[in-house]
Amino acid sequence: MAAYEYETHDYDVVIVGAGGAGLRATLGMAEQGLRTACVTKVFPTRSHTVAAQGGIAASLKNMGPDHWQWHMYDTVKGSDWLGDTDAMEYLAREAPKAVYELEHYGVPFSRTEEGKIYQRPFGGHTTEFGEGPPVQRTCAAADRTGHAILHTLYGQSLKHNAEFYIEYFALDLIMSEDGRCQGVLCWKLDDGTLHLFNAKMVVLATGGYGRAYFSATSAHTCTGDGGGMVARQGLALQDMEFVQFHPTGIYGSGCLITEGARGEGGYLTNSEGERFMERYAPTYKDLASRDVVSRCMTIEIREGRGVGAEKDHIFLHLDHLPPEALAERLPGISESAKIFAGVDLTKEPIPVLPTVHYNMGGIPTNYWGEVLAPTVDDPDRIFPGLMAVGEAGCASVHGANRLGSNSLIDLVVFGRAAAIRAAKVVDPAAPNPEVNKASVEKALDRFDGLRHADGAVPTAELRLEMQKTMQANAAVFRTSEVLKEGCELMDGVAAKMSDLKVTDRSMIWNSDLMETLELTNLMPNALATIVGAEARHESRGAHAHEDFPDRDDNEWRKHTLAEVGDDNEVTLSYRPVHLDPLTAHDEGGIDLAKIAPKARVY
Ligand SMILES: Cc1cc2nc3c(=O)[nH]c(=O)nc-3n(C[C@H](O)[C@H](O)[C@H](O)COP(=O)(O)OP(=O)(O)OC[C@H]3O[C@@H](n4cnc5c(N)ncnc54)[C@H](O)[C@@H]3O)c2cc1C
Repeated sequence: MAAYEYETHDYDVVIVGAGGAGLRATLGMAEQGLRTACVTKVFPTRSHTVAAQGGIAASLKNMGPDHWQWHMYDTVKGSDWLGDTDAMEYLAREAPKAVYELEHYGVPFSRTEEGKIYQRPFGGHTTEFGEGPPVQRTCAAADRTGHAILHTLYGQSLKHNAEFYIEYFALDLIMSEDGRCQGVLCWKLDDGTLHLFNAKMVVLATGGYGRAYFSATSAHTCTGDGGGMVARQGLALQDMEFVQFHPTGIYGSGCLITEGARGEGGYLTNSEGERFMERYAPTYKDLASRDVVSRCMTIEIREGRGVGAEKDHIFLHLDHLPPEALAERLPGISESAKIFAGVDLTKEPIPVLPTVHYNMGGIPTNYWGEVLAPTVDDPDRIFPGLMAVGEAGCASVHGANRLGSNSLIDLVVFGRAAAIRAAKVVDPAAPNPEVNKASVEKALDRFDGLRHADGAVPTAELRLEMQKTMQANAAVFRTSEVLKEGCELMDGVAAKMSDLKVTDRSMIWNSDLMETLELTNLMPNALATIVGAEARHESRGAHAHEDFPDRDDNEWRKHTLAEVGDDNEVTLSYRPVHLDPLTAHDEGGIDLAKIAPKARVY
């Protein structure tokens, strides 16, 4: 047994993560008088939510007619009929309330002439159940919406006496003998001390796992730590095969180049200098939809027409446009291209690659954020003491595909819901039960084992191998052959986890060890993704399977559950999609005929 001392902290609730979801949950819990701790590996306002520019969806009707039912319809259709109906109703209904709360907390939203919250149009958001014109539903604080939300929620949380533990890395969940979550063990990065948070409720708000892929628009900290912690407790991850890609992330860094670049006349070329999109999409060319452009780029690369030394990316040209136009309309992009690709886009093309943008899958929850541990008899069984919100969770409102601006609203609606629920199920007067020592020791042993890992494969090398494999075999272009090969390759990659080499043994600011811990979290997320994708023999939302090009509602309108064992073996099972809404039609709910499955065409 590893001998480590640790300090114990008692709280009613501990939230792991201080992005939009974690902060909204933290604030809500603290507001209700629960003793609340928020643990985060980065400073709260450095969470990936800070990078969200576009905005947050809610049917406020500030710019024209809108209705929560229209928002719900768009979300159902966007999800390609894989989302849970009750959760999607909850999201659309509660969205306006959640946005007005943000306004009252102090988020500096952009305004209309009359002083109302400004709303912009966004892809897939429509009126009249998809029959009417596009709607302006996306509320924005200029192009810094996520930034504004994070700063506001952090300030409000401090005001309500939530306690922050910043640059604490959550290692593992602590479980009681009778199977409830009792807390989380953390490592304080700057002084090497260990901390046990004993809590009546643990909320995972750890964000996505974009970094399982070579190219991701998300921050380097998006390593699926919540999913990893959950998988290590033998709990399932849900719908992991659904990963959203954006066609133009900068090669290497993944930094997002907005669709606006192609909107202004930018075009893509392959190694032969060919504008290949003309061949695939003669009408819309480079402005075909995101998933189509991403797939065509991948086909070009796979067929050997990629650019660069490894022929593994594509060029985006803006160099034919007048420099004045670039400076005026795309100043941010010019700067990103310079910093992240070292190119002057008035003279050279930008190296780009289809890039992971969002993970629809995650830890399964109900619409209160309570984590589910489904059984055959009870697919909605609640796992006591544990919640998950934000990109780490899967409620599921995005199903097989997320609409733009529906993530930020998911963060605040479900962060808030988790707080409402916690106030009901957590008794602040009850003492905190003693934690299960065996569970703590198990977590310490794992930590110690990795700290002294003395194998042959450096963490960075194995991580790169995993990322390249996922990028090549589990990205946008999916065939039975590609996915099967990917599963075999990932088996080999995962097997090397037992041969990791960590060179730094210290406890203080040991980034080598932290990255190794993150890799142990990324791996189960990656395995669940590729194995779930290989098994799903249909095309739905972001999962476009060349050998099964159609959606198959009879066989496949169900959620994938993936358990990843200690031996990295993935076991799949399925649970039904919730088809019932929260409110009956005659009591003001949506007419179910309106959201019956049909082809998802725009
Ligand atoms: C470039 C970009 C632009 C986007 N634009 C939009 C947009 O305009 N509209 C929209 O709706 N969505 C957008 N999205 C999606 C949306 O921003 C994200 O899905 C969302 O911000 C995720 O928030 P979160 O709170 O779940 O997690 P994050 O913001 O990623 O925060 C995760 C938190 O968990 C903490 N954490 C993680 N692991 C640990 C650990 N082991 N120990 C302790 N703490 C840990 C981190 O410190 C961090 O505080 C965008 C995403 C990207 C990448």
